[in-house]
Amino acid sequence: MPVIVQKYGGTSVGDPDRINVVADRVVRAREEGYDVVVVVSAMGDTTDELFAMAQEISAAPEPRELDMLLTAGERIAMSLLAIAVNARGCKAASYTGSQAGIITDSKHGQAKIVDVRPGRIREALAEGKVVIVAGFQGVSTTADVTTLGRGGSDTTGVALAAALEAECCEIYTDVEGVFTADPRIESSARKLERVTYDEMLELAAAGAKVLQLRSVEYARRNGVPIHVRSSFTDEPGTWVAEEDESVEQALISGVALDDEEAKVTLEEVPDHPGVAATIFKAVAEEAISVDMIVQNVSHRGKTDLSFTVPRADLPRLTGVMDRVVADIGAHGYSTDAGIAKVSLVGAGMKSHPEVKADMFDALATEGINIEMISTSSIRVSCVVRAEDAHRAVQAIHRRFGLDGSDAVSE
Ligand code: ADP
Ligand code: ASP
Ligand code: MG
Repeated sequence: MPVIVQKYGGTSVGDPDRINVVADRVVRAREEGYDVVVVVSAMGDTTDELFAMAQEISAAPEPRELDMLLTAGERIAMSLLAIAVNARGCKAASYTGSQAGIITDSKHGQAKIVDVRPGRIREALAEGKVVIVAGFQGVSTTADVTTLGRGGSDTTGVALAAALEAECCEIYTDVEGVFTADPRIESSARKLERVTYDEMLELAAAGAKVLQLRSVEYARRNGVPIHVRSSFTDEPGTWVAEEDESVEQALISGVALDDEEAKVTLEEVPDHPGVAATIFKAVAEEAISVDMIVQNVSHRGKTDLSFTVPRADLPRLTGVMDRVVADIGAHGYSTDAGIAKVSLVGAGMKSHPEVKADMFDALATEGINIEMISTSSIRVSCVVRAEDAHRAVQAIHRRFGLDGSDAVSE
């Protein structure tokens, strides 16, 4: 029998009524002749609530204990869904990440999947059962429970689809697919029928939370087609797959917003070889990822250097920066959490240099100042003030006619 993996996000299993709706859909897939493997997220905001509870007790909970706590959310959802499917007369059994054979490294909170050993899942499928797996979690090579980073259930789904050679991985969420912008920010955003892995990677890296970045990387590496769709309707959603040679590449696929970064500026940094290496080695040693980096032209041997990091890492970065400033002899540093990054993504922009200018002009026309810029061959990102972020997304979306009206740079 062909295998299908269906992953349901937090809103889709947010309460018992929603769980019943999901159970109906799961049973339908079974009746259509599939071996069904379901991956669930924690119900609603459970993960946030568990995290907040831990923070109330300690500002710095041990990562191992935090992982143990957070994985409980997905266990609740998986067992309730198994109960709902069984109640429909369709055999189902639930499994934790560890039982499902999701083996990870031991980096708590951000663990990477190193192997998938789906022996028990195969046995249950052979017994005619629907398999329900807790997303977002695994077991480390040293036998501790781990989590895969926020949004990690997407990656569980894709990893199981790859290991079981499933037809595809369906990602059921609270929107109808991947849109030209977050439909909650831009109401005229249009659903995309198809996006390539490369475009989706850039969109996810630029902050479009609809798929976890790692899940897209995993899908591309293993050739797993992803179908992002709504658990609230039966409409087809968006296919994320290899480039289709017969279809002309869209100039632009969408606009993404990342409002979870902060800017750090080192002032009056001595401008000589080795300084950047010292700074970013120290940041990397704390396992803090740096996104954009801008170094200004130097005046009298000194220059300012700015970069962005995840806002949540700012407290950890402070200690590092104190040391770095002393090491390199800079004047000092400042941090700014009031920024947001707006990105335009599209494979077609490679051959259209005017796209960048049009994007900057759209921001200028709105009176929005650009603080930093970075580009890749299929993405342009601008850092703006956080309070301007939604207006920036809307202005760029309009300028490129992404709602389906006239596009500027065709
Ligand atoms: P789930 O809980 O199902 O995993 P997420 O909240 O992780 O759902 O992801 C879905 C959300 O992603 C949507 O509600 C939407 O606000 C947001 N989003 C951001 N950018 C996009 C985009 N380009 N297309 C669709 N949704 C987007
Ligand atoms: N429940 C986890 C989170 O909120 C994992 C997921 O939803 O994918 O991040
Ligand atoms: Mg998600």
